[in-house]
Amino acid sequence: MTALDARPTTTFDSLNPATGEVVASFPIDDADSVRAAVERARPAAIWWREQGFEGRKKYLRAWRSLMARRIDEFADLIHRENGKPKVDALLELSLAIEHLDWASGAAKKVLGRHRVGSGVFAANQWASVEYLPYGVVGAIGPWNYPVYTPLGTISYALAAGNAVVFKPSEYTPAIGKWLVDSFAEIVDQPVFQLVTGFGETGAALCTAGVDKVAFTGSTATGKKIMAACADRLTPVVIECGGKDALIVAADADLDAAADAAVFGGLSNAGQTCAGVERIYAVASVYDEFVAKVAEKARALRAGGDDGASYGPITMPGQLDIIRRHIEDAIARGGTAVVGGVESVQAPFVQPVILTDVPEDSAAVQEETFGPTITVKKVRDEREAIELANDSRYGLGASVWSAKRGREIADQLSCGCVAINSVLSFAMVPQLPFGGVRDSGFGRIHGADGLREFAWPRSVTSTRFPTPLKLATFDRPANASTTVTRLVRALYGRTRK
Ligand code: NAD
Repeated sequence: MTALDARPTTTFDSLNPATGEVVASFPIDDADSVRAAVERARPAAIWWREQGFEGRKKYLRAWRSLMARRIDEFADLIHRENGKPKVDALLELSLAIEHLDWASGAAKKVLGRHRVGSGVFAANQWASVEYLPYGVVGAIGPWNYPVYTPLGTISYALAAGNAVVFKPSEYTPAIGKWLVDSFAEIVDQPVFQLVTGFGETGAALCTAGVDKVAFTGSTATGKKIMAACADRLTPVVIECGGKDALIVAADADLDAAADAAVFGGLSNAGQTCAGVERIYAVASVYDEFVAKVAEKARALRAGGDDGASYGPITMPGQLDIIRRHIEDAIARGGTAVVGGVESVQAPFVQPVILTDVPEDSAAVQEETFGPTITVKKVRDEREAIELANDSRYGLGASVWSAKRGREIADQLSCGCVAINSVLSFAMVPQLPFGGVRDSGFGRIHGADGLREFAWPRSVTSTRFPTPLKLATFDRPANASTTVTRLVRALYGRTRK
């Protein structure tokens, strides 16, 4: 019997969120089968590491090309299992493919051995650092961007030389399987494997002997993952939710800002970790801006057909949260300028724009993860910055100003800011992505994202004997006096 035959027979169905049709059935992997996957990954990780940067780049680029060639077929599956319109699935895939391309190409430069200066007291040393793969990485992913988000960790972990065991969301396992199966067409070793199931399967992955866990999902689950990993000091990278603000300054291009606000808040049915959930617009432009946002939002329509602006709410349980936030906002004095509670028409939610919502209400404080936006009138940019920062989350932000975008962005306490655009930081493979506070820690994407999946090893090598021997009990009696003189001469004076 092979290890794969040993997978459990208990299964679950993944459903098309728009129609309720079964997309496919998957095993619920228990602790034993998850552990078996990690054990299979161990020798594969060694093989993968031995391919070196150039060997891995060749495989990863072949995988990239396969995905690019079959982008249409894959987008159809994403549409069926996640619900988003096919055009959105194509955009998601395009970005994911670009990240994979960048990670595979940049890994050598970022992680390969490179020399560093050796300083005054070790001038005779050749000092270098290289970044080595952890071994087996457990990747746990969400459903909202079921390719772009997990590949934000998986591409970088693989490029760094790790094997990966991937637990996709229980809402998008077929998409996870497509990724793993397509990789297996390129690499015939269990370098990238799939385990499927619910939270218990993810929890089992955290304690199955993996060398690092890369988690993307809710803050509540992120805390559980840290707790599970604490016992073995297994390192984690935690990418969680957000409550991103968009700031509209007095000198903003209001048409462009309204367009970005509506796209940032309502595309993907608002199910975007760095989506726009709160808007702060200064008083002088507030009325005009709200009118433009409302006009644009009214023109959008949620639906399961090709012509829809965005699709269904993928996770049925989220509908209750969205409804509760709208009800609470209105009960506490808010105004629904577009839509209202009646916009929640399971499995869809039509656009909702709320104004005058108290800052301490759920719709402003908690992640809604639906196509709803709150807009608040503020005195000036200073108040907008204060309110934007007054959140337990700190993932991204968008700033709209002709002249002072940078000045405002510099005062925002979050991981990523887009000036006069929305979400554009997520499109730049070289930019690290991640948040602060309840949005998590560690970074995916960019050089930081590659280093997240490797540990630094520093090496010094003696080039020539030093006249100033310090690391010996036989050092000359005057060594410390010489060192002290040197320190005073070099660092004792105040200079720029
Ligand atoms: P979730 O936390 O419910 O689930 C995420 C994954 O964790 C799933 O695969 C789930 O099965 C697994 N899981 C659940 N309980 C677990 C446990 N105890 N141990 C281990 N794994 C467990 O999140 P979700 O609803 O799938 O995703 C939506 C959330 O993800 C939102 O908060 C969104 O903002 C966030 N998100 C963040 C980013 C980012 O990069 N910062 C990107 C996309 C989504």
